[in-house]
Amino acid sequence: MKTDWDVVVVGAGPAGCAGAKRCAEQGLNTLLLERHILPREKVCGGMLLSPASRTLVKDEFGEPPAEIWSSSPYVRGYVLHVPGTSGRKIELGRVPHAWRRVFDYWLSQEAQRSGAELWTDAKVTDMVEDDGAYLLKVSHHAAEQGIRARYVIGADGAASLIRRRLLSGVNLSYGPASRICYDEAALNWKTLGIEKEYFHPFFDPHRAPYRFSIEYYGGVFTLVFGGLRKSGKDLALEGGSLAEQYRLLDLGREPIWEDACVELGSHKEILFGSFSPAKGNVLLAGSAAGFMLPVTWEGIGPSIRSGIAAAEAVVKASAHTKEAERYYLAEIEELLSTFRRAYSWGRRIKEATTKEPDHLADALEECFEELLNIPRW
Ligand SMILES: Cc1cc2nc3c(=O)[nH]c(=O)nc-3n(C[C@H](O)[C@H](O)[C@H](O)COP(=O)(O)OP(=O)(O)OC[C@H]3O[C@@H](n4cnc5c(N)ncnc54)[C@H](O)[C@@H]3O)c2cc1C
Repeated sequence: MKTDWDVVVVGAGPAGCAGAKRCAEQGLNTLLLERHILPREKVCGGMLLSPASRTLVKDEFGEPPAEIWSSSPYVRGYVLHVPGTSGRKIELGRVPHAWRRVFDYWLSQEAQRSGAELWTDAKVTDMVEDDGAYLLKVSHHAAEQGIRARYVIGADGAASLIRRRLLSGVNLSYGPASRICYDEAALNWKTLGIEKEYFHPFFDPHRAPYRFSIEYYGGVFTLVFGGLRKSGKDLALEGGSLAEQYRLLDLGREPIWEDACVELGSHKEILFGSFSPAKGNVLLAGSAAGFMLPVTWEGIGPSIRSGIAAAEAVVKASAHTKEAERYYLAEIEELLSTFRRAYSWGRRIKEATTKEPDHLADALEECFEELLNIPRW
């Protein structure tokens, strides 16, 4: 088995698949490592929310095949729910909507078609620098293996091991997201007056922008608690203020499945602090670098954009025998400035939680209107 690579990309999510695809297309020997057997699940809405993301997916991976979209293949928009106000509707036209296990699997197949080698069930357990290159320890089908790479793209998600090895002293915070998936009959759609084709976030007036949301995939729907940990379930279904306002479920019904993940919450450090998503020839992309928008949690498009930027930086560095770090930081400058603009919304919404419910609903509506319509990453 080959042990020396030009580029090793860790993680076969949107960032990793985009990075590996672009590196392979440019003639670099590229290995993509994924710790799970694919297809794998990911807690996510699976919506290509902004025009920027829809264009990017098409430009980079081609027209997605129809079968990757869920049985409810489009979301028509958002309805923002704040107790004490009427739902604010944001029309988005046709937002493509997928289960991430299907969507990401397609991305990984496209990366392979472009020449990247993919190892699944391949978990990176360590990385050290060695004489101008990087040695990675990989548990591949439960056997320990060492591989060597000139460049590493860490696209291994919010809890990134590559980031922890690269920036050992940096302290970042995490936000939890948990998901419960039910058969569609568990929700009394009619009584609630909830339209299935819309995405429904419900905001706790004191803790916005944290929320729980209802999303319909055809036959099944999910409740996702963003930033609310276990209390999310109480707020939505049991004794909390949102539960009082919105009687959602026939609680006799069992969920089909439950899962959870974390996302990076340290936007301030990432955008304005000492955090740098690159060092030498190791580059962080996607959630590993914190590229998920505050408030809307849009991350698929920014992850793909940063994966491409990492690949372009590696190609340039390889051609000029320079370090990839400086090329990458230049490549992501535009993405970072979009994130800096978006960041201010989190603060404005927090401020609005101290005022009348209508004031909070106004702030949320304005924020979503802007962030869901980003034209370019
Ligand atoms: C509740 C919620 C809803 C969301 N909804 C949306 C939405 O509707 N639209 C949107 O655009 N964004 C959404 N996002 C954001 C989106 O999910 C992320 O931004 C996106 O998944 C990040 O992609 P990524 O490739 O960086 O990381 P990931 O998708 O997390 O992929 C990382 C990959 O790395 C692998 N990996 C991790 N560690 C290792 C290791 N040591 N070795 C090998 N492999 C490893 C993982 O198994 C995984 O496959 C949502 C997020 C949350 C939490």
